[in-house]
Amino acid sequence: MGVRIGVIGTGAIGKEHINRITNQLSGGEIVAVTDVNQEAARQVVNDYSLHADIYPDEASLINAEQVDAVLVTSWGPAHESSVLKAIKAKKYVFCEKPLATTADGCMRIVNEEMDLGKRFVQVGFMRRYDSGYIQLKEAIDNRVIGEPLMIHCAHRNVETEDHYTTDMAITDTLIHEIDVLHWLINDDYQSVQVFYPKKTRNALSHLKDPQIVMLETKGGIIITAEIFVNCQYGYDIQCQVVGEEGIVKLPEVANINVRKQGNSSTAILMDWKHRFVDAYDKELQDFLDSIHQKGEVSGPTAWDGYIAAVTADACVKAQQTGQQEPVRLQEKPVFYQG
Ligand code: NAP
Repeated sequence: MGVRIGVIGTGAIGKEHINRITNQLSGGEIVAVTDVNQEAARQVVNDYSLHADIYPDEASLINAEQVDAVLVTSWGPAHESSVLKAIKAKKYVFCEKPLATTADGCMRIVNEEMDLGKRFVQVGFMRRYDSGYIQLKEAIDNRVIGEPLMIHCAHRNVETEDHYTTDMAITDTLIHEIDVLHWLINDDYQSVQVFYPKKTRNALSHLKDPQIVMLETKGGIIITAEIFVNCQYGYDIQCQVVGEEGIVKLPEVANINVRKQGNSSTAILMDWKHRFVDAYDKELQDFLDSIHQKGEVSGPTAWDGYIAAVTADACVKAQQTGQQEPVRLQEKPVFYQG
């Protein structure tokens, strides 16, 4: 029998994950859904022809006997409560980022999980499952470029909606770099600083765009991360690691090259949903396989969710002060080492 999954939040990414679990992956089945908008939940059950019950709220869904694992894809501020309830009920939980909107909230989850003595929580930092980042990590771990010294990266989106604010460049956008980069180089952040280049005329007046975030690690590696969310030309993720003996670079998305009428061209993705499709598939398949095979989840941990929250807080503070701000992480518990 597959892992019986209850979904909290049937918005954009909730639907995508429901679709992949139902139609692409193996070993999982959606048996329950809930959303603050009950009509949206009903619509999803209908649209994807699910054999799933609709629950009035998160508590009833989590505690339902037929639910083995919970997928948290509601909006960020609702995540902590769902994850805590799920762990307390000893249900596995896959939580989209953020794990919680505050570092304290993440620590409450960490402590609850450690008390149970087993990994229940996987955070949806899917880039760790992207084949390009995996190749980068292997090259760095095998010292193909010697000691890594610097990382230059960019996170560019075509445009933003009106509600997107300057701090969301950190909490919604850079958060993926924050997670994947410390994993890539196996190092911890020590300080951050934010710079504002000349502002694009394509951003609304309330939004500072682009931004450059400089992160320094305890090992002395300097990372420059450009966030440019109204770049117009495409959804573009770049990452280049500079080492003592060479450089490794994230591969470009594999699109065909067209040579025609005196031009050579390769299409650039315009929608973020298409860039990490394989990684989304792999992270959720790993969630299901780990439950089946080990009775415990693997992948990005609640502690990784905590690191992301503390680092994002420091970046948001640095946006406001213009100063270098420390990243103050607590000591990593033995439970999350290895
Ligand atoms: P969305 O389309 O707004 O969907 C959120 C859904 O959750 C909506 O249906 C919303 O209902 C519902 N909801 C809000 N509060 C709830 C609650 N307390 N209980 C149950 N349902 C609730 O947002 P989204 O783009 O899918 O994003 C959802 C989460 O995934 C966010 O945390 C986001 O950061 C994350 N995300 C991650 C990635 C990634 O690349 N890993 C990509 C996209 C999103 P209403 O519409 O009625 O408010």
